[in-house]
Amino acid sequence: MDKTVILITGGSGLVGNAIKTLIREYSESVFDEFIFISSSDYDLTDFNATCTMFEAHKPDYIIHLAACVGGLYKNMNKKVDMFENNLSINFNIVKCAHNYGVKKMIACLSTCIFPDKTEYPIDETMLHDGPPHESNDAYAYAKRMLEVHCRMYNQNYGDNFVCIIPTNIYGPHDNFNLEDGHVLPALIHKCFTAKKRDQLFVVRGSGTPLRQFIYSLDMAKLIISVLYTHEVCSESIILSVPEKDEITIKDVATIIAKKFNYEHMMVFDQSFADGQYKKTADNTKLMRHFPSLEFTPIQEGISSTIDWFIENYDTARK
Ligand code: NAP
Ligand code: GDP
Repeated sequence: MDKTVILITGGSGLVGNAIKTLIREYSESVFDEFIFISSSDYDLTDFNATCTMFEAHKPDYIIHLAACVGGLYKNMNKKVDMFENNLSINFNIVKCAHNYGVKKMIACLSTCIFPDKTEYPIDETMLHDGPPHESNDAYAYAKRMLEVHCRMYNQNYGDNFVCIIPTNIYGPHDNFNLEDGHVLPALIHKCFTAKKRDQLFVVRGSGTPLRQFIYSLDMAKLIISVLYTHEVCSESIILSVPEKDEITIKDVATIIAKKFNYEHMMVFDQSFADGQYKKTADNTKLMRHFPSLEFTPIQEGISSTIDWFIENYDTARK
């Protein structure tokens, strides 16, 4: 019997690498064929290149992760890239997934695309209830259109496109760039460098905003579970740790500083923006589908990520 082909766009990124690691761990019991795609294989902003990818691999399932991604300051400074690249990539993938008869697609949104002024906790029904935070409106509007596009195909053609809505993700293979990275990898890199140079460890903003962080290996397990669970179909689902695990940026920075024994040198530079104060997400639907889920404690996840960054310093994205 032919193997089921599962194609993962964004296969070279943070989440793509976590799925790779997971598949490797379970290699003996994995019968399906997983194909991991990076931008050097196909530029998915190009419709013809996207068609070529579908023709070459004939995927049965798709996990669509590829995106122009970054932290608060990349979202603020590179709005045109965030908007145009994400619109193009998502349009091409959704259209081809339909045209080439993909049986199920997992398409990736984010909890940071929800309305800024809203009720908390946010749930799957509230995505379009108001404008996103001004700092990441370009990324948010492009990602919101991915949800709309998937929903239109589900409604008119009976496709099975499921939008997952992950909270903030971190782990090995993240982008540790000081300007463009998300808070956790950027601060790990900053603290590492500050300690090496005997300088202050500068955390941007006030440290008061709240976030829910999920370890990338946990996210990989959730995505694979959603893919193989037929009851999760044709609608959106938030993938997040519980509300009680929400943590301030100051507490996250402190965990990082403590791991480096550098807490005494941590300072805040409030001339930088804080971004959205919080985006507390409700994971009730997720827990209803997978009641026995457990999440990696944040201290443990950050510690492993720092170990990975130090071991892979030369080759890490930074
Ligand atoms: P990432 O580490 O930045 O990886 C992005 C991936 O997209 C890379 O594999 C990259 O390929 C690929 N890509 C970018 N532009 C492309 C193009 N033009 N053509 C083909 N591939 C392209 O991102 P991530 O953190 O794993 O994010 C995965 C998904 O989760 C994204 O959809 C993101 O929006 C979503 N998400 C992320 C977070 C988070 O905290 N990281 C939170 C919520 C949602 P190259 O390696 O070749 O550049
Ligand atoms: P967000 O969760 O989508 O807003 O994006 P980030 O992962 O970039 O987190 C942004 C929050 O972390 C804001 O409150 C920033 O002020 C704070 N932060 C503190 N230092 C840094 C840093 O060096 N880089 C980034 N990206 N954020 C930082």
